[in-house]
Amino acid sequence: MIKRSFIAASILVSTAFSLSAQTEIKNIKKHITFLASDKLKGRGTSSEGEEKAAQYIADYFKKLKLEPMGSITTNGQRYKVAIPSYFFDFTFKKNPNPHDTNTANIVERKGKNVVAFLNNGAAHTIVIGAHFDHLGLGHDYNSLDANPEGKIHNGADDNASGTAGVLELARYYSTNNVKEKYNFLFMTFSGEELGLLGSKKWCDNPTYPLEKINYMVNMDMVGRLNDSTKKLIIYGVGTAPEFVDLIDKTNYLGQKFPTGDSFESRTIFSIKKDSAGIGPSDQTSFYLKDIPVLHFFTGQHSDYHKPSDDADKINYPGEKMVLDYITQFVTATEALPKLKFTATKTQETKSTKFKVTLGVMPDYAYEGKGMRIDGVSNGKPAAKAGLEKGDIVTKLGETVVDNMESYMKALSVYQKGDKATVKVLRKDKEQEFEVEF
Ligand SMILES: [Zn+2]
Repeated sequence: MIKRSFIAASILVSTAFSLSAQTEIKNIKKHITFLASDKLKGRGTSSEGEEKAAQYIADYFKKLKLEPMGSITTNGQRYKVAIPSYFFDFTFKKNPNPHDTNTANIVERKGKNVVAFLNNGAAHTIVIGAHFDHLGLGHDYNSLDANPEGKIHNGADDNASGTAGVLELARYYSTNNVKEKYNFLFMTFSGEELGLLGSKKWCDNPTYPLEKINYMVNMDMVGRLNDSTKKLIIYGVGTAPEFVDLIDKTNYLGQKFPTGDSFESRTIFSIKKDSAGIGPSDQTSFYLKDIPVLHFFTGQHSDYHKPSDDADKINYPGEKMVLDYITQFVTATEALPKLKFTATKTQETKSTKFKVTLGVMPDYAYEGKGMRIDGVSNGKPAAKAGLEKGDIVTKLGETVVDNMESYMKALSVYQKGDKATVKVLRKDKEQEFEVEF
């Protein structure tokens, strides 16, 4: 028998611990180990591995007793209430052979997002999202491996890490006994590697009112924090006026610091900020609906989009730091009214293939003929020429534009300073514009 007071004390200790719940390294590790295992064969969109990953995520949301916030389509109609489901299915058209440009061989394929809601009875909601699909066996993606086809691309960092982040934050927010001033929409997207398909489909057919969303936090590749530099890249900091200040103010871990401790000495991350709302991941889809967004990213590495992006290379304590930082950031925004959306300039994507840019965001989910413009960046050639969101580019210079591939081919011949005529369909009417690159 042990002393009564000792039992009482240990109960107190354990209660206190569960009240101040924290994100846990062991959970992050468990999720990534499963999602990036060979069993899931790289979680390619429309594959059996995608299916297994989606089920794993849905089962976890169910275990946390979160509200299903998906919807299913039957005969082209989308239903939400009939059968409550965490799955949000979608279809898209794609040629199974990426090297085949014959449009006759394009087939309809399926994908699914997984969506859950934590209702805290609050007026506004924070979206915590990440894509869970990856390159599968490398067949129809931009694998950077010399000989990728047939090799499993496990995508531990890209993006089992972000998916694990969503799952762990879902657990944290639904068990921490703190009534947050927000509701949370936990979303994992498929089809990201094929062009942000899942997030875009959801934003175009939302199962939750977009106007109630305060801002969206996207995690894509958060598993490779460098322990010495602690570099953390955050995209989208220009999409709400409050972001930059709060990002700096909450850049420490742990609520209490010794008095007299300088701000610099308690700073955790070396943060590289990028203002653009349009970026290489799913936050773009929300930004294009005028929602403030932030994308957290621990940086590029040599295993990116290669079969070697494996679970044993993940910095698990580093990812926990990123998650804890996100929770501190979210808490800091609770003191503020709903954030105001601010449009931003688009960041230049460095590509060796193109010497010029039109300055548009293509709609990768568009299934018709041509290249539909989903967003136009201020001050870039397309905007200067008068092109608008919704325009469908059908011809660029002498090249007929049938799809993304022919658009990129048409763009690749231009040099800075060149001029070209762009033919577009605007509200079914053909119009021509002169662009200068
Ligand atoms: Zn990727």
